[in-house]
Amino acid sequence: MGASRIEDPWGPRSPFGPGAAWPARVDGFLADGVTPEQVERWVPSACVLCSNGCGLDIAVAGGRMVGVRGRAGDRVNHGRLGPKGLYGWQANHAADRLTRPLVREGSELVESDWATAMGRWCSGAGASSTPRARARSASTPPGSCSARSTTRWR
Ligand code: SF4
Repeated sequence: MGASRIEDPWGPRSPFGPGAAWPARVDGFLADGVTPEQVERWVPSACVLCSNGCGLDIAVAGGRMVGVRGRAGDRVNHGRLGPKGLYGWQANHAADRLTRPLVREGSELVESDWATAMGRWCSGAGASSTPRARARSASTPPGSCSARSTTRWR
């Protein structure tokens, strides 16, 4: 599967004439050292890194995500994936990926839990003074600062 698509973001062209069906082209990428035979299962999903929502299957081995492939039958992409869809999932395994919320304590950001972080967000959003913070506050969905929604994050 797949030569680097950073240098060739669109991938091989697949022209077709008027009235002809759009040909499928299944793009895929597996982590270094992982072969297709080592994939234990493919989980149907979609890339959400832009509003296109290309259909893809997630490759799983050893309880971890090890790759993706486009779905030929998906009406949106007929198997095609762009560079973000092909490679973006690798960030899930990044050593410096945030896995807990950070809250400000004085001049420091410290790890916290979701209930604390969401509570701070909700209590501080209305008092925000910068344009960006006010815009963020305005985009908070109705009810997202209720006790019920805060509990969801615990
Ligand atoms: S693969 Fe590319 S075009 Fe498709 S949803 Fe992801 S980011 Fe968008």
